[in-house]
Formats: sequence, structure tokens, C-alpha cells
Amino acid sequence: MPQSNLLIPKTMRAVVYRGAHDLRVETLPVPTIRAGELLVRVAVCGVCPTDIKKIHYGTVPPPRVFGHETAGTVVKLGRGVRGFQVGERVALHHHVPCLDCHFCRHQAFAQCEQYKRTGITAGFEPAGGGYAEFVRVMPFVLPGVVKIPPRNSFEEGAMLEPVNTVLKGVERLRLLAGDVALVAGQGPIGLMFTRLLALRGIKVLATDLFESRLKLARTFGARWVEQPNREGISLASIVSRITRGRGLDAAVIAVASAAVMQEAQQSVRGGGQVLLFSHTKRGDHCPTDLATICVDEKDLIGSYSADYLLQSKVAHLVFSRKLDTRRLITHRFPLDQTAAAVDLASAPTPESLKVLVSQEPFRIIQ
Ligand SMILES: [Zn+2]
Ligand SMILES: [Zn+2]
Repeated sequence: MPQSNLLIPKTMRAVVYRGAHDLRVETLPVPTIRAGELLVRVAVCGVCPTDIKKIHYGTVPPPRVFGHETAGTVVKLGRGVRGFQVGERVALHHHVPCLDCHFCRHQAFAQCEQYKRTGITAGFEPAGGGYAEFVRVMPFVLPGVVKIPPRNSFEEGAMLEPVNTVLKGVERLRLLAGDVALVAGQGPIGLMFTRLLALRGIKVLATDLFESRLKLARTFGARWVEQPNREGISLASIVSRITRGRGLDAAVIAVASAAVMQEAQQSVRGGGQVLLFSHTKRGDHCPTDLATICVDEKDLIGSYSADYLLQSKVAHLVFSRKLDTRRLITHRFPLDQTAAAVDLASAPTPESLKVLVSQEPFRIIQ
């Protein structure tokens, strides 16, 4: 369909970050695109803990429009753009590595200078822009745009980015089928870890404080579910029982708690791994017996953000529903209630998992 027939308004609604704990619904110009760029009408944007931290702690200067787990419809193509059509449903990726620098050659994509640049914006300093009606997608992140198959929803498209970060973490673990791994925390991210590990034949011990999440963890493939320290039963004793004293092969820490990390580290066997996934706030310290790392060879590793090279695997997992992300979505807020969506995602209830900001479907007017 010819793009000249599309009715694209001049202004749009956007949720602008104006300082710590300050999100405002404002009217902004619809971004203008340049050669090599796309204009996308946002349909869905996930609320991500990394954005919540920036909003709550005010760690970056305002104004910005956040939101980076975005899916929507291509409504305009910049000059010279090939491979896309107006009307296509797409999932976006706001970071794409250069694949050429020192960091990229070491597959440390999240440390690449280009990767650190955000290539999607609704205005102001680029910050994702998904909490707005339209976003501008810059040329260097075009390779990260994924088309959503007809049978899948925008919501599933919006889940590609968080699933990618989880698959990247899983790939960092040296595990064999039949191994035992702890996934501490069964929020949306923890549940994704549980499922992806289970798909690889790993026996998962899933822990959480909420009974409702543990029930779900079972259906995502957890072999054992526990609420540690309830009724005085320690994680160590649970692990000792299920591994007959050997210890965990790996522990994934999907909850930002130093105490949980320490407990898990003690329950990992010699030569095992502890993966930190949620400790994204700088300045958190925790005493560690360094001999457990040196003598016992327990690796303490981290994983942050996504791995561009995993994108097609991620798309297959989500779109085939081997990892059924639809079951992780519990709440949808309209754009002008983005602040409430952020509040709920930052203080989860037993019933809440993934929270989305969802907009009216866009109709192409000819
Ligand atoms: Zn995210
Ligand atoms: Zn690079």
C-alpha cells in the first residue's frame, strides 16, 4: 500500500519522564524520519525493570520517553529502506551491536559503543520511546527489527527483547542435560529461565515467596518448587536432599537480593556457576569467601541485556510458543496510565507478572 495514502497525524501522545518518579502524559510532535529510517506506530510496550530503576532513582537526566520492549506497525519508510513494507507488524530492538569492534569480536556485545547507543526514539534523548504513539527507528538498529508472523500477536512481539536477555544468560551456563539448576525468583524473567532451562533437559529447582508463582513455575517445567526459609527449611537442606549432597550445578539469581545470592552460592557444587541477572544497581556489595571462587572453582558470572546473534533463536522460541509468553502477561494499561503500569511492575503482587502498556490497534486509512 502506498505510504502517501497513510494518514499520519502531526502530533501524538507520549509519556515523558520529567525527573525521578515523574511521568507525564504530554503532546509531542510525531517524529520525523530521515533516509534509512522507519516510523512505527506502537501497539504494545512492555514495562521493564531497567526502565523502572531509571524512573525511580532518576539516574538519567530528563526529559526522555522510555519503553524499549516495543512492537507495532510500520507506517512510513525513509528513503532507501529495503526489506520492509508499510503495514508490516514488527518487534523492535533498541540496541544493535556493530559486530566489528574489540568488544564485539569477544562477543561482549553489551559493552560495544554502538550497542550502548539507543536507536529508537519518540523525541528528546533517545531512550526507547515505546511509551508513545509513534517511534522513529534509526538505521543502525534496523537489523534488529523482527517481523511478527500472522498468527502471533503484538504482545508476543514485545516479549522478544526480555526473552533474548534470558536466553543470553542461559547460554552462559555450562550445563549438561540432567543437571540441577536453581532459578531463584519466579517473576516473568525467572519463569522464562525456568522454561528455557527445562527445554534443555535441566532439572530446575524454582524458588519464590509467592505460592501462585510456584504453581506457574511447575507448568513452565520446574521439577521442584520451594519457598525457602518458610517453616525454617533452608535452601541448603533442600538442595542437599535433591542432589544427594553434591550441590547445584548452577544457580540463576533472578531477584535483586544479596542474601539470596549468598545462600545460592553456598549451595552450588565445586566447579559450578552462579549467574547474577538482577543485580543491576551499582553500589550493591556483598562479602564473599574468595576461596569458594579460587579453590572450589565456583564461577560468579553476570549477564546483561541481549545478544543480537541469538535473535532468530529467540524469535523461534517465542513465535512457536515453545516458550509461551502469553501466559506471562497479566496486566495491560492504556498509554495514559503508564505511570500506574510502572508502579505495579515495580511492586509486584501475587497475581502480577508481565505488565504491558497497550494501545488501540492502528487502522490504516486509505
Ligand atoms: Zn527490557
Ligand atoms: Zn561493537
